[in-house]
Amino acid sequence: MGRNFELKRANTLEIFHALQKNSYLSRKELEALTGLSWGSVSAICNDLMKKGVVLAEKELSTTGRPPERLTISTENKLALGIDINSVGLCFNVVNLAGMTVFSEFVTPDSTSKDRLLARLEQKTGSILEEYPQILSINLSMQGTLDRNAGISLYTNFFTDWINVPLVRFFEEKFSLPTYLYHDPECLLTYHLANDPRLSGKNNGIVIRIDDGIGMALLSNGCLYEPTGNTACELGHTVVVPDGLLCSCGKHGCLEAYGSLRGIKNFCQTDAEFSPDTLLSYLNERKGNSDEVINQASFYLGLSIANLFTLFNPDFIVLDGNSIARISDFYEKIKASVQKFYSGPFNLLRANYRSDAAAIGAAMLTNDKLLEDILFANK
Ligand SMILES: [Zn+2]
Repeated sequence: MGRNFELKRANTLEIFHALQKNSYLSRKELEALTGLSWGSVSAICNDLMKKGVVLAEKELSTTGRPPERLTISTENKLALGIDINSVGLCFNVVNLAGMTVFSEFVTPDSTSKDRLLARLEQKTGSILEEYPQILSINLSMQGTLDRNAGISLYTNFFTDWINVPLVRFFEEKFSLPTYLYHDPECLLTYHLANDPRLSGKNNGIVIRIDDGIGMALLSNGCLYEPTGNTACELGHTVVVPDGLLCSCGKHGCLEAYGSLRGIKNFCQTDAEFSPDTLLSYLNERKGNSDEVINQASFYLGLSIANLFTLFNPDFIVLDGNSIARISDFYEKIKASVQKFYSGPFNLLRANYRSDAAAIGAAMLTNDKLLEDILFANK
């Protein structure tokens, strides 16, 4: 009896993973993809449909009985992902396939802790009212985290932001399990699921270049998770000994030269920039933009070449607003990598979407808890 149950559990997961990867499948296709018998496929699909996890959609057909295609429901078992970033707050509701049901990007009117938390609470509350099927809240956060305690320890992009107990804050306000992730690992999760260029790759790196510089590492198919609270701090590796003062207190960090905040310090202008206006200024090559973009590309390329030397990864993906919006930035960085790395390398420009980190956060929890979610009675 116990073994039968375990077998059914494993087969159910296999069918579910096939549907996650393929969006729409007929029972015949599921039978071929999983190697399970027609009877097993049918019984499991019926069970998943009864639970409301899987839906059957009829295709339009002019002759005979319309074929039925199965897909993961966008009505049930949803997760809310929130990317808390200095360029903006992004809220996404996704289903168990990582498909977006709702997405909104909010530019906060203040970077102060209290105002940001109030905005997060207000927006989250209104989304939960609209989508009561949401099972978890999943936060993608920049800066230093204590994952086990669910605390955002520090980010210098917001004011007064020290030891903010984000998980407790959301769990107390909304009584839903809440999970905290570092934003580059959310991006890595999103791209692994959605970028066909990464299919089958087990070792790689994602670098987010926005106001700061974040990095996540995939090692043998698993996210690298440090024992302590910090790791993969590419932005705070020194590229210029005794160079410019960095926000972390050290001198000459990559972030002081290659991040948007670093680049802004080199722009010879008195303009007050928002992230958006700075990106336009740089993209239109106003003022001394050419010079500062060349300088940033040089140091970013140097650091990325060192990563290729250290890890020989299958890929490094560059993501973030700066890569998406400043023309030639990616190409210039790539040219700089070529200067410092002699072997072949696979540097990719991300298929950018502003809500990728929010989606990735929700997907991380869905993957981790998939069995609990699928086999729960509710
Ligand atoms: Zn630093």
